[in-house]
Amino acid sequence: MSYGKKHRDPQEWIAEAMGQFESSGIRKVFDLARKLKDPVNLSIGQPDFPVPEVVRKAAIGAIDRGQNSYTVTQGLPELREGILARARASLPAECFTDRSILMTSGTTGALVLALNCVLNPGDEVLGFDPWFVMYPNLVALDGARFIAVDTAPSFVPDPERVRALITPRTKVMIINSPANPTGAMWPEEVLRALAELCLEKGILLISDEIYSMFSYDGPFISPARFNPQTLVIDGFSKSHAMTGWRVGYAHGPTRLIEEMIKLQQFTFVCAPSMAQHGAIAALDVDMSAEVASYKERRDFIRGELARDYDIGQPGGAFYLYVRAPHGRNGTEFVAEAINRNLLIIPGKVFSHHDTHFRISYAATMRTLERGVEILKDMAKG
Ligand code: PMP
Repeated sequence: MSYGKKHRDPQEWIAEAMGQFESSGIRKVFDLARKLKDPVNLSIGQPDFPVPEVVRKAAIGAIDRGQNSYTVTQGLPELREGILARARASLPAECFTDRSILMTSGTTGALVLALNCVLNPGDEVLGFDPWFVMYPNLVALDGARFIAVDTAPSFVPDPERVRALITPRTKVMIINSPANPTGAMWPEEVLRALAELCLEKGILLISDEIYSMFSYDGPFISPARFNPQTLVIDGFSKSHAMTGWRVGYAHGPTRLIEEMIKLQQFTFVCAPSMAQHGAIAALDVDMSAEVASYKERRDFIRGELARDYDIGQPGGAFYLYVRAPHGRNGTEFVAEAINRNLLIIPGKVFSHHDTHFRISYAATMRTLERGVEILKDMAKG
């Protein structure tokens, strides 16, 4: 059969906004991982413990009972109420004078909906360098600009520097503490200053709290404590090792949540039904043993590398953000590590600087020991 002489180059169908983002640099390392034999993999940003049994059973039970259809767009009432009840226990009462919640397809779903619902082309979003890889890309998709506040070398921002970058187009600020990729937990006074700055300037504060459970040196502090209009986004991917289940949520000002529900009706429809049933069970599971085990791994790898490397202050999440030694650039250092069978992520993926690399210690002790050995050898230069 002939369809005419010339096929159109499919490239011509691709939207301009897509040209602004490259396929994730992290995926490139994952692709490499598949080719290496028995690599020492410290590149993966997901927990290595199993999904708790009661959670698995609850989801399987839901499937078996036939709870396989759409849920209401905003998510199962019991799940939403359970999450809000927990938020009420940790945030001041004034946060709840105007606060609603919706369940989303992962924390990513919450981010996508929130940014789409608030950004107009040309708006500016304040974020921080290094950033979580999705932020600049999702902002670009809306035709908005991601303005990255440099936080090197401490990886804690200076609120006065942030203030100086605010323009009449600044609409959103995204905070992620504990942070991916640095593992930094920002001090209370910094979170307070940024949260109050958003209030003063009428900027929507989005707090990505996906690593809140992994706070090792003190309690987790939400910037929502200092700004009742904060949109909190979070999910079960990291806390309960449910990355593939796609359950997240957002709670914040009701008007904004209403709009996100409207957009979800026409995009994701709802978070996966059986996974929401599992998440109800997850709310009551004590994960403190898992957190303690991650703290031990953090202490181990930090202790082992501290003599040879500049590793900053990894107070949370499960990452170390390490400076490549001897003034080497991060990309070259990572290429050499990969040659030695060690998978880590170059800092360039998250930053304008090419000075660091990310280690994930969400791995077995044996893997961490092997990684430490290679890194110590590489530090000899
Ligand atoms: N925010 C941050 C900071 C993350 O690190 C991740 C996952 N790597 C996400 C959001 C997305 O998580 P989810 O699986 O819930 O979509």
